[in-house]
This record gives sequence, C-alpha cells and structure tokens, in this order.
Amino acid sequence: MSEHFTPVSTLGEFGIIQRMSDRLVDLPRSSGLIEGIGDDAAVYKVSEGTLHVITTDALIEGVHFDRTFIPMSFLGFKSISVNVSDVVAMNAKPLYATIALGIPRNMSVEMLDGLYDGIKMACKKYGMELVGGDTTTAHALYISITVVGEVAERDVVFRRGANVGDFLCVTGDVGGAYAGLKVLLDQRQALKDLGEDYEPDLEALQYVIQRQLRPNARLDMIEAFKKAGIRPTSMIDISDGIASEVHHIAIRSGVGATVRIPALPFDPETRLVADQFMDDIDAYALFGGEDYELLFTVDPSEVSKVDALEGVSVIGNIEEAARGVRAYSPETGLLPLHPAGYQHFDPNEVNPDDFDLPPSKNGAK
Ligand code: ADP
Ligand code: MG
Repeated sequence: MSEHFTPVSTLGEFGIIQRMSDRLVDLPRSSGLIEGIGDDAAVYKVSEGTLHVITTDALIEGVHFDRTFIPMSFLGFKSISVNVSDVVAMNAKPLYATIALGIPRNMSVEMLDGLYDGIKMACKKYGMELVGGDTTTAHALYISITVVGEVAERDVVFRRGANVGDFLCVTGDVGGAYAGLKVLLDQRQALKDLGEDYEPDLEALQYVIQRQLRPNARLDMIEAFKKAGIRPTSMIDISDGIASEVHHIAIRSGVGATVRIPALPFDPETRLVADQFMDDIDAYALFGGEDYELLFTVDPSEVSKVDALEGVSVIGNIEEAARGVRAYSPETGLLPLHPAGYQHFDPNEVNPDDFDLPPSKNGAK
C-alpha cells in the first residue's frame, strides 16, 4: 500500500467515527438539532414539547451473521430490534423505519419472504411501520435500517446525564447473547461436515440461542419506567458489552463508575453454557455484547422505585471521574474495567478472545 494511504484499521471503530465527526464539525448547525453524533440516536425538535430521534444500524453477512445459521425470519426480526434498541435507549418510541437491502444473486425469493415475515413481526411487536427503502444487488446480504422515533421533550434521556451518587442499573439478564453465539459456533464446528444440509437445532438451549438470533428491544421497559414514575438520568443500550457501555456513559457524563460483578444478572441457561465451556461468565456480560438490554442510571431518590420494578438490577454506582471505570468483586477487590467490547477495526485487536472467549467469524456484535 502506498505510504500516502493509512489503513482504516489503525483508527479503530470509535476512531473512525471521531475522525468523520471532526470532518463535519464546521457544517452550520440546524437550530432544531438537540443531539448529533455521539449518542444512541440523534435528537431533533419537531414541535413544542416533542422530539424525534433517528438512528441507523446495519447487519452484514459474514460480519454480523452467518446466513446458513440464522433463520431468515429471525434475521428480519433482529435487524429491526437492534435499531429499536437505540431508539428506546433515548427513552423514545419507534414510529417509522426505512431499509436499504443488498441482495446476493444466490438468495431465494422464499428467503426474502422469510426476512420480511420477521421484519413484519418486529414492526407489529414494536407498534411501528416500514415505510420505504432501497434495493440493490450485493456480494453478501446487507441490511441497513433507519428508524425514527418520538419522545416528549421532558422525557428524553441521553448518555450524558449521569451524576455522581447515581445508581447504575441494568434491565433483564446479560451475557445470554454471547452464550448463544458460543453454542451456535460449537454446533457449527461439530456439524461442519454436513455442510448446507445442516439445520440449526434451536430446541436445545433455546433461550440463549434466541438471545443471539432473535433479540428483543426493551420497549416494554421504558413503558414500565414511565408507569413507575422513573426517569433515568442517563441510558444506553447494550450492543457491545457492559464494559464498553459503562465507559460511554462515563465519558459522555464526565463521571467514573463502579460495576459490582456479583450483582450482574444471569439467566440459569447462560450459567449452564459458561459452565459447560469452563468460561468466566462475567466476561460474557462485560465483553460479549448483543444483549440489547438497557444500562441506565437513576438518582438515589428513585432507587426504591427501581427496586420495586421486576426485571431490573442495581449493578453499581456512579462516582467521581478521577476514579475511572472500575469493577468490584470480593475476590479481586476494585480493578480498572477496560472498554474491551467488540469493536469493528479494533486497532489493538482486542476482542472477547482476550477474555477467554472463542474467536467469532460472525463478530461478537
Ligand atoms: P450504537 O452502538 O448505539 O448504534 P455506535 O457506536 O454505532 O452506536 O455509534 C456511536 C455514534 O456515532 C452514534 O451517534 C452514531 O450515530 C454515530 N456514527 C456511527 N457511525 C457513523 C458514521 N460513519 N458517520 C457519522 N456518525 C456515525
Ligand atoms: Mg446503542
């Protein structure tokens, strides 16, 4: 390669986003824009008291999924869920989606039907509509979705609102999606000789496999927050693992945080998988990603309301920035927690492998 060109891999995913963001910096800013690059979704004002949010996420064959391994309807469902997850991370509800689809020539009409059945199921579940898109040929199946959502101005939650003294909370259970990926990779290894004839066995370890292949966005949780009168001070969805997401909240809010490892909520099936593979289950939650749960902070005055809510765990505290982001367990005490979740183009080649997790051709995100 010519010495005048720099490989993008030297920047890393977040470095690329920062560099591209810097190139746009002197664009005149529209008066309606409230949050641009840097949160789960961009936010702009549409009328007095009402905001819209907008977000895009792509799923690409060979990077995010293996077409022989995920039923097409699950892939359709997941492609909507990962976008809705970013909308609900702003405490907003999804309204409309558009899709850009790159279709390889060897894909069947029946597969496309399956994909759209899954998309339809997800749209129904989240109360939204797919209203347009673009279709092209491609070398691999490419699905890029944009979702617009709505939130009352007083209800919007950013990554940047955490305060020292807040409690750090998470919805549902974590680490399950990575456990599912491990099971699928293991099955693929065991049955690779059967080639295209192999049908994934979705019965065994169904919960963790579903967590990986057909994740739900937690729209139900933001509805539960509203009902319980809880307004998180900051929020992010878990696409890259808790370690990475806590860092995003900490950096954007100018605070530090401690994650209490024994408080991480796991499903028994996730424990079973971690035990079977003799893995450290905490690494699944911290560095595995793709759980699409919500990580959020609340003011101490609201923690009793959070405790009363089913399916939410308090997992840590927000502290002074100087303390950094740390993990606490009785065995290790307090240790720095590195933001080592899956990053595309990671310059340091840090991936879940470094935490005793397997290599993933799918990518762990
Ligand atoms: P998430 O995992 O929540 O989808 P990302 O890590 O993908 O968030 O993106 C972080 C932020 O960077 C978001 O605000 C996103 O809109 C923005 N972003 C990502 N890629 C690009 C890009 N190529 N150009 C401009 N903004 C980007
Ligand atoms: Mg997100």
